[in-house]
Amino acid sequence: MAKTKSSAQSAADEAVLTQFAPLIYVAWADGTLTKDEAARIRRHVSKGGHAEDVVARVLDRWLNPEAPPTPSDLNALLERIRSTPRVRQEPRERPEPAVDQPRVLEAMHEVENALGVGGVDTLSMLLGRAHSDARAAASFDPDRMRACMDGDRAAIRERVFKVMHRPIFNIHRVQAMSLYREQVLACLRELAREGIGAIAFPKEYGGEGDIAGSIFAFEALAFGDMSVLVKYGVQFGLFGGSVYQLGTARHHRKYLRKIMRLELPGCFAMTETGHGSNVRDIETTAVYDPSSREFVIHTPHENARKDYIGNAALHGRIATVFAQLEVRGENHGVHAFLVPIRDEKGAPMPGVRIEDCGEKIGLHGVDNGRIYFDNVRIPRENLLNRFADVTEAGEYVSTIPSASRRFFTMLGTLVAGRISVAAASNCAAKAGLAIAIRHTAARRQFGNDDGPELPLLSYLSMQRALLPRLAATYALDTALYDLILRYAEAEGGDVREIESLAAGLKAYTSRHAMDTLQAAREACGGAGYMMQNRIGGIREDVDVFTTFEGANAVLLQLVAKSLITGLREQFGEMRVWRLVRYVTARATTAVAEKNPIATRRTDPDHLRDPDFHDAALRFRENHLLNTLARRLKARIDRGATPVEAMNDCQDHSISLAIAHVERVVHEHFRRRLEACSDEALKTVLERLRALYALDRLESDRGWFLESGYFEPGKAKAIRSEVSALCRELESDALALVEAFGIPPRFTEGQLVAAAH
Ligand SMILES: Cc1cc2nc3c(=O)[nH]c(=O)nc-3n(C[C@H](O)[C@H](O)[C@H](O)COP(=O)(O)OP(=O)(O)OC[C@H]3O[C@@H](n4cnc5c(N)ncnc54)[C@H](O)[C@@H]3O)c2cc1C
Repeated sequence: MAKTKSSAQSAADEAVLTQFAPLIYVAWADGTLTKDEAARIRRHVSKGGHAEDVVARVLDRWLNPEAPPTPSDLNALLERIRSTPRVRQEPRERPEPAVDQPRVLEAMHEVENALGVGGVDTLSMLLGRAHSDARAAASFDPDRMRACMDGDRAAIRERVFKVMHRPIFNIHRVQAMSLYREQVLACLRELAREGIGAIAFPKEYGGEGDIAGSIFAFEALAFGDMSVLVKYGVQFGLFGGSVYQLGTARHHRKYLRKIMRLELPGCFAMTETGHGSNVRDIETTAVYDPSSREFVIHTPHENARKDYIGNAALHGRIATVFAQLEVRGENHGVHAFLVPIRDEKGAPMPGVRIEDCGEKIGLHGVDNGRIYFDNVRIPRENLLNRFADVTEAGEYVSTIPSASRRFFTMLGTLVAGRISVAAASNCAAKAGLAIAIRHTAARRQFGNDDGPELPLLSYLSMQRALLPRLAATYALDTALYDLILRYAEAEGGDVREIESLAAGLKAYTSRHAMDTLQAAREACGGAGYMMQNRIGGIREDVDVFTTFEGANAVLLQLVAKSLITGLREQFGEMRVWRLVRYVTARATTAVAEKNPIATRRTDPDHLRDPDFHDAALRFRENHLLNTLARRLKARIDRGATPVEAMNDCQDHSISLAIAHVERVVHEHFRRRLEACSDEALKTVLERLRALYALDRLESDRGWFLESGYFEPGKAKAIRSEVSALCRELESDALALVEAFGIPPRFTEGQLVAAAH
């Protein structure tokens, strides 16, 4: 090994040595370097076009397998690394960096691959720096990423964040429930005053007529206190939305302004103690009395009381009540009615009894209650009559003849709630990830005997806990964003095909949020359990997102049913048995076609190929759909009812629904990144996309092996590739959560302080 002779070296050599010192240090970390390894490293580092001859000279000297550095050479190198100033500002603000970290990091990944030693983590260890270095080392500009991901949302988010920064929004979760609820109501007033509750409503009633904007505003609120979010959702989304969507001009004129200004706080009273998921069979009755031209709203027994109703325990003065409509002794199914429940002073109206649901797991600032009606009379005009009406003479009229179709049309208009809950769930995942990734990048535990402890985020198990979830959060963000815009465009028209996607994404994203928050909580150790660090509170609040707006298992079955219906429609007149024979044959062919190529290939090019991911996700969905159709058919042929047949195959339906959502989410993510013109963003988004897809394939590898789509070697290769992607994304993780654009106030607790 040739000794360094600093005095004799040119300034250029010095600069290059400084540049590549971490790389060289890591290359020699285990004391040996083969020719192959040296060549591989050199191939990589010489790509950059930076003073190639000087780079070559320095590397000749330092990466010579025949002349390893002495311990004192290495110590000198380490000293050089540690004494080199590094610029800590945001990447876009820095002048000429003393060290081209992205380039070094890139090269170190290569070293890592070649030698199996730590790359980025080793760099942080060498530098002995906190996470700000890692942010500076990001391969892209987080502000650009934010702009790319935010799209049309940016302005509305800023508008909402501005209001959320007012002192009233500074909410302590651990406080008396009564005070908490009042503070949440005060926040709602503030939002209403700023017109944030009016965004979705038509301009002619003082709104902004911006459906997508209203869901984006909801998303922004999801970064703050979730009780404010849910109370906002109840007042302006569920209650206001039901009056707007299910009512007609007479209701709009009378109520919409008051609703959006919060002058008329209201409830959405659908669920009953006895009927939650199955709302078609609720038991509250609305009997038309032609003599007085009134409906009589009644709770026939204890189990038919309205339950868990937001805004009911304290503040609601009127409720959209869902009840079985009876006219002249005939039942016409579920309809919605506006029923006053409290007077102006807050006392329950005659015949209305209200109870507080009491303490809950989370959402302590929302006043959920139970409502009982004892023959409460309301005027005929209080029927929300967009889809059906009762004439003064007591005649039932509807443009939709079938009761069942009417019911589903009515529910379909309320799909915005599901989309909003899905979007808010992803925000909860973002907040959890931002907190956990910042913490684990700064917090150090264990390490090499002779060096500082390593950041938690440099450990592979931590990366595997957080980074695939980060990738999924990005992927879901693109699918949700597209769904919101699509829904807004379709608004007022036929939203049936959007319903299934909304149901699937709501179920999938709320589950993702819960899993992510738990992983984030554990990643932060004991500090994560402290309420001031927010993850626990968010997790408690978001928990119910898996239940309200449709319990997840029920929604996933809706998705499966709609896929089966689609299959049937696709083949039109084809008789069912022929169809089944056809799809079975098709599925078998698909496996045979894929086998020789797809089942065995394990090279990185193939493993990261979006077409491979697309094909695998599509294959799984098609196969599950076809085999489900076949199984259902077999059961029905044997005399089972459709309900029995569906129940017998319920696990299958749920797997199909999840497979469908994952395929669709992947497609949205792929489209988004293909449209991105910034190469740096594209590279990191491509890694995230590949990680999302491979992580999904890995997590369902049992199925892929079972179905013959993978051979064992391929399953193993996918596992290695997931780990490799995690390693590659480590240095970008901080910038990726930065790009979520969450105001610091909503993610900063004591964690970072605790980490130092
Ligand atoms: C905090 C909170 C706020 C709420 N706010 C409102 C509100 O403002 N207005 C309102 O109307 N409602 C509200 N709800 C009610 C909510 O919408 C219901 O809780 C929800 O629809 C589920 O109904 P359920 O509780 O009766 O559960 P159930 O229907 O009893 O379901 C229990 C479990 O069984 C599963 N399940 C049900 N059917 C099937 C099936 N066929 N196959 C397999 N599994 C099945 C579900 O997935 C779930 O896991 C609220 C609830 C809570 C907790």
